[in-house]
Amino acid sequence: MSEKIMPNRLDRVFCQYQEELEAKALKVLRSGWYVLGPEVEGFEREFADFTGSRYCVGLASGLDALWMAFRVLGIGAGDEVIVQANTYIASVMGITINGATPVFAEPDIFFNLDVSRLEGLITERTRAVLAVHLYGQSSQMDEIVRICRKHRLRLVEDCAQSHGACFQGKMTGTFGDIGCFSFYPSKNLGAYGDAGAIVTDDEDIAANMRIYRNYGSEKRYYNKVVGANSRLDELQAGLLRVRLKHLAELTQERKKLAGRYSRELHNSCLLLPQVRPGCDSVWHQYVIRVNQREQLIRYLDRRGIGTIIHYPIPPHLSEAYTDLGHQRGDYPIAEEYADTVLSIPMYNGMTEKEQETVIEALNAFTP
Ligand SMILES: *Cc1c(COP(=O)(O)O)cnc(C)c1O
Repeated sequence: MSEKIMPNRLDRVFCQYQEELEAKALKVLRSGWYVLGPEVEGFEREFADFTGSRYCVGLASGLDALWMAFRVLGIGAGDEVIVQANTYIASVMGITINGATPVFAEPDIFFNLDVSRLEGLITERTRAVLAVHLYGQSSQMDEIVRICRKHRLRLVEDCAQSHGACFQGKMTGTFGDIGCFSFYPSKNLGAYGDAGAIVTDDEDIAANMRIYRNYGSEKRYYNKVVGANSRLDELQAGLLRVRLKHLAELTQERKKLAGRYSRELHNSCLLLPQVRPGCDSVWHQYVIRVNQREQLIRYLDRRGIGTIIHYPIPPHLSEAYTDLGHQRGDYPIAEEYADTVLSIPMYNGMTEKEQETVIEALNAFTP
């Protein structure tokens, strides 16, 4: 029996760049400086340049980037933020940690916020839109930017799955006030522990983020606000600099893998992911839809192929958000996606043979 094919393999990228990563780790360990230092500054400069933003502020996680983004924008109790209903729950927590209310929007066929529904959700309490570029594909940013400008709303982008993805050639994270990134190990630009960052063109936002991440202090022991401990450490920043140097080639590889799936999968039970014209996907996940999902999961498992559901419970139906008072049926499209989506194995370092095994199994599936 050959080795099981896992949904993701983080060891493959590590092995590919092992020498460089180990050299960097040793350099940091021997430097005697471990939190907010030269590696963090270097990474912030390089990641700002990569996205085409003026500023980048390194943080401890993607969730911190989100909640601190709304915090520095002054969005809190009594305010509403519009977000797509099929997102990962961290997007919603970024809003509710501040006491603000998430207003859910149904997704479009590309799994992103359906812009045709956006204006209908705006009330006098709406303060911001959180655009999530889910599974690696940019949301429809021309319309989202236009509507936010028209109604004087803040725009925050959740780019935890979209490092390097563009809308009409412009990079996600640079359309609104703040772009929020996660570098959790499984993300396209992944660290070897938790890490995150924001990018922005606004000098005050960047300065306030730096204050917030370090207990609200600019000058040691002088605290301006009640902040957080969300500092990026030198080890993660150093390793991220190595990964960032190779991100373009890693993204190319993901595009190639996704392209092969889209060309070679032909089973009428499976709905394949679509890319909107003008959008670019960096293929954080390859998400298919299938009505006979439980059956397909068991079938693949028997053949040694692992899969994951991103995500089985939409935030409005999560136990954590019972107090929002939503029920099944409130967002039928998001709920249908939750019931039918399946992420098939796709990762940097996936071999042709592994992908062939997955393709053959999927094409031979009959419910
Ligand atoms: C991973 C993720 C986050 C949270 O990032 P962490 O670094 O795990 O806190 C937020 N939003 C989306 C869409 C994500 O995929």
